[in-house]
Amino acid sequence: MDFMTLYNDCSLCPRQCRVNRRMRGGKRGPCGEDDRVRVAFIGPHFGEEPPITGTKGSGTVFFSGCSLRCAYCQNRQISHESFGELADMDTLLSRVEVMIQSTGVHNINFVTPDHFFPHVFTLVSSLRENGCDLPMVYNLSGYQSMDSLKMAEHYADIYLPDFKYGDTTLAASLSRAADYPKVALEALCEMARQKGFLDSTAKKGSLAEKGVLVRHLILPGHLENSINVLTSLFVEFGPDLPLSLMTQYSPVGQSLPGPLNRSLRPEEFDFVYAHAHALGFRNLFVQFPDPPDAITSSQPSPFLPDFRKAQPFGKSGFKKMQSSVDIRKRVC
Ligand code: SF4
Repeated sequence: MDFMTLYNDCSLCPRQCRVNRRMRGGKRGPCGEDDRVRVAFIGPHFGEEPPITGTKGSGTVFFSGCSLRCAYCQNRQISHESFGELADMDTLLSRVEVMIQSTGVHNINFVTPDHFFPHVFTLVSSLRENGCDLPMVYNLSGYQSMDSLKMAEHYADIYLPDFKYGDTTLAASLSRAADYPKVALEALCEMARQKGFLDSTAKKGSLAEKGVLVRHLILPGHLENSINVLTSLFVEFGPDLPLSLMTQYSPVGQSLPGPLNRSLRPEEFDFVYAHAHALGFRNLFVQFPDPPDAITSSQPSPFLPDFRKAQPFGKSGFKKMQSSVDIRKRVC
C-alpha cells in the first residue's frame, strides 16, 4: 500500500477532517501539518520509564504539530508554535540510523506521530529492511482513530498512550475533544488487544520489547478527573495494567484557566496516588513531585523541554514503585 495516499483525504485521527494534505496552500486540520513530515528533535531521551529508557536512552523522534493540541501542552513549541524542520524520507531514515549507531539507544520512540503515520510506517519498513530490530515505540495522546491503530499494528511493538481525561467537559474545554474519554478508552483496548501489557513488568528489571503502558498527567486542581481516569482504567484493565502517574505539569502558554496556571502540589499528587494504591494497581511508575519552590523561571521543571536547545531535556526520570509506603516517605 502507498501510505502517502492517506494524506489525500485525511482521517488519520478522530478529528476526521477529510482535508487534502497534499495540496499546497490548502486547508489544514487542527494538527496543522500538510503531507511533508517535520521533526523538532531526534536523539536519545532519558526521561521515559525505566524499561523504556534503560541505560542508553530511548531514541526519540519528536514530530511537529499535534492532532489534539491541549491548551496546557508541555511540548507547546512543537504542538502549537510549529517548531520543527522539514525532512525528506531519506534524511529522516539517515538521521535515525545515525542516532542508533552513535548512541546505542534501546528503541525508536515516535512522539505524537499519528498525524504522520504514513511517514512513520514507511520509516519503520525501511529501518527493518536495513536490519534494525529495535522495538518501535508509539508515544501517543490516547486520542487515536481505530482504523489508524489497526494499520499501526504491524509497525508497532510498544504503545505508550496517555489517558488524559475521564471528564468530557474538561476534555472539551482543554482539548476541544468532548469524546476523548470514550475514544481513548476504546483505543487503549485496541492497543492492549494487539500487544498486551508491557512485557518488562513480568520480567523484573528488563527492558521492554512489547506491550502497552498507560500514562496519566495529573492536572493541578482537577483531581476528580484523575480519580475518574484511574477508576476507568482499573475497571477496564484490572490491577496489572502498567500505569505511569506523571507529576511534571508546568504552566506553559498564556491565559491558562484557573489552577492550570500553577504546578501540581505535593498533596494533590498524594491524593491521586492514594487512590491508585487503594484500587490496587500493581505496576505503577511514578515521578516524585518537585517541592513548589524548586521550580522557578530560571530553573524550570527538568521535564519541560526546550526544543531550541541541542539537548531539549534534563535527565530526571521515573521510578517504578509498588508500595505506597515508599512513595509517602518521599512526598510527605
Ligand atoms: S491528522 Fe490532522 S488533518 Fe488528519 S484528521 Fe487529524 S487533525 Fe485532521
